[in-house]
Amino acid sequence: MFNIILFGPPGSGKGTQSEKLILQYGLKHLSTGDLLRTEIASQTPLGLEAKNFMDKGQLVPDEVVIGMISTALDANSKANGFLFDGFPRTKAQSEALDKLLKLKQTEIGVVLSLQVSEEELVKRLLNRGLTSGRTDDNNEEVIRERIAEYHRKTSAVADHYQTFEKVVAIPGEGSVDEIFESLSAEIDHRMSAHTTFR
Ligand code: ADP
Repeated sequence: MFNIILFGPPGSGKGTQSEKLILQYGLKHLSTGDLLRTEIASQTPLGLEAKNFMDKGQLVPDEVVIGMISTALDANSKANGFLFDGFPRTKAQSEALDKLLKLKQTEIGVVLSLQVSEEELVKRLLNRGLTSGRTDDNNEEVIRERIAEYHRKTSAVADHYQTFEKVVAIPGEGSVDEIFESLSAEIDHRMSAHTTFR
């Protein structure tokens, strides 16, 4: 099993690249943003609670997303590996994920960190807001708050995995295909090392 965290601020292209990576590597895509939006669409109590935070650009409480991921891991015990997108987003979520994976005798293989400038992020998110129907994408104040949450809480996730030398920075500006090539090259390299040593 080889598990990847696709890491980066909102608008850095995690969703777009995830779609391509899961096809290439046969991984199970776990996006907490998508899981939360499904809960909102179904108007579950969890979705209704999460929506209050998401509409303000704030993170949903750790217990909520950790519970969702734990359920998703159990529901996909036969997967070749997981691609985590938008999770973990806090240090507590990183530690919880490490524990959950350890229980399944696996771990994070690599954290691929997409690098995109703030002005480009805001431009992309406002642009996505024109068509995505996502209420958190069509208000610049909410977008700025999401980026601020990223700096306040989520950048700590990279620090956490850096202590295990698992983080690789990948340029996130350029064509979708160019970025995909950079991500794939790094995954191929890490995956071959993984099979050689285990
Ligand atoms: P983006 O990467 O564009 O911000 P996502 O779909 O990943 O979009 O997330 C949308 C919103 O869902 C976030 O702003 C946050 O409120 C909530 N969310 C998603 N994942 C998490 C998480 N792991 N922890 C807390 N909140 C989350």
